[in-house]
Amino acid sequence: MEKKIAVIGGGAAGMMAAIQAARTGAKVELYERNDRVGKKILATGNGKCNFSNRDMSAQAYYGSARKRYDTFFSKFDVNETIDFFSQEGMLIKDRNGYLYPASEQAATVLDILRFALDKEKIKVYTECKVEAIKPIKGEQLQVGKAVYDAVILACGGKAAPKTGSDGNGFKLAKALGHHVTELVPALVQLRCKEDFFKSVAGVRTGAELTLYIDGKERSCVQGELQLTDYGISGIPVFQFSREAAYALMHKEKVTVSINFLPQFAQKDEKTYKQFWQERWNRQKEQNLEQFLTGITNKKINQLVIKLAGCKPLDKVIELNHSKREKIENLYRALTVTVHEANGFEQAQVSAGGVVAEELTDTLESKLVPNVYFAGEMIDMDGICGGYNLQWAWTSGSIAGRAAAGKKF
Ligand SMILES: Cc1cc2nc3c(=O)[nH]c(=O)nc-3n(C[C@H](O)[C@H](O)[C@H](O)COP(=O)(O)OP(=O)(O)OC[C@H]3O[C@@H](n4cnc5c(N)ncnc54)[C@H](O)[C@@H]3O)c2cc1C
Repeated sequence: MEKKIAVIGGGAAGMMAAIQAARTGAKVELYERNDRVGKKILATGNGKCNFSNRDMSAQAYYGSARKRYDTFFSKFDVNETIDFFSQEGMLIKDRNGYLYPASEQAATVLDILRFALDKEKIKVYTECKVEAIKPIKGEQLQVGKAVYDAVILACGGKAAPKTGSDGNGFKLAKALGHHVTELVPALVQLRCKEDFFKSVAGVRTGAELTLYIDGKERSCVQGELQLTDYGISGIPVFQFSREAAYALMHKEKVTVSINFLPQFAQKDEKTYKQFWQERWNRQKEQNLEQFLTGITNKKINQLVIKLAGCKPLDKVIELNHSKREKIENLYRALTVTVHEANGFEQAQVSAGGVVAEELTDTLESKLVPNVYFAGEMIDMDGICGGYNLQWAWTSGSIAGRAAAGKKF
């Protein structure tokens, strides 16, 4: 018998769930609170939508669902994502494994999904916020006045609430008896205590960043650091921002050590010392400003001079050993103290969500039969690079197919 399914939330995960459920033979209706589906997709990847990544592994994810990475991704992985979008007509651009639509327009990904919703004759109710899901006699579920055989909750997390995902889906999950882990903004900028940030705002530079929590090294990432008037941003910062955000929530001390000369990161102390020694000898007739020109961004050079207690016109030849050592160390390990992560408004994802232990391997609730979950609502968040959308495609496909009766 044809199953009747409701999908709550028309984001990446909800649309994929709806399409897969319909293709598995169900009659599907999708509820979206906004006046159109997929608003967040349009903002992804700076408007280009980095929709997946060929370099997939559990290491790219955090949260309680990560333990079952193989179970989930063996059911629908990056290759199936590529097949799905290719079969719907989308050409794909592969930039070192990072996948984008060839059009470089996020709107293409959304259009492809919208056309597929139409093709599968999925009824989409926009401007329709679901406020409650009522189980009926332990089998069916009521949404508004309609009754369904299964409901897929795909309301997103708490990040970028203007796009519709403001965390209200967690209330629906809790009302059904589910537990939700602590939520923090992730893939987000970090605000720092130091007062020098205004002088370096706007700088983008290659760097290696090491995150320390209560003095213990927790993560080390290289990439393009962006300095803002309040702190640090850019992909390397995003990658460990969820760890920093959780630590701050738990009142732990968060510091980040910035190495502005990442080309020396993997090299030994001797090589680094040698580099400076040769430079101090070779350019000893210069003043400090001239001497540091060419090392890295000018604003960073000026900051180093200031933090070392020097002046731009100080003569190199007159600098004592301790001043020189200070300068060398500042380039390699400028430590900043993080006092806050930016909020959910600025975050790309939220870390935390519905506890994975309460879900089966096909993402069905273990507490309420025929309720399924997909996407960011589940306690699983990825690093930057297409991993969060891939989780939306993976979890949406699993939940959609399983809800429609597919046996995995
Ligand atoms: C600026 C930005 C850039 C990003 N870039 C990338 C990227 O390049 N690559 C990548 O992999 N990830 C990226 N992400 C993350 C990615 O977009 C999300 O992880 C993904 O969209 C989550 O999909 P979802 O379907 O679970 O949730 P969402 O996309 O948040 O969709 C949830 C939907 O549910 C609707 N909804 C909520 N509650 C209700 C309700 N009660 N009733 C009806 N409807 C409801 C919402 O309006 C929303 O449309 C980015 C995120 C942001 C904010």
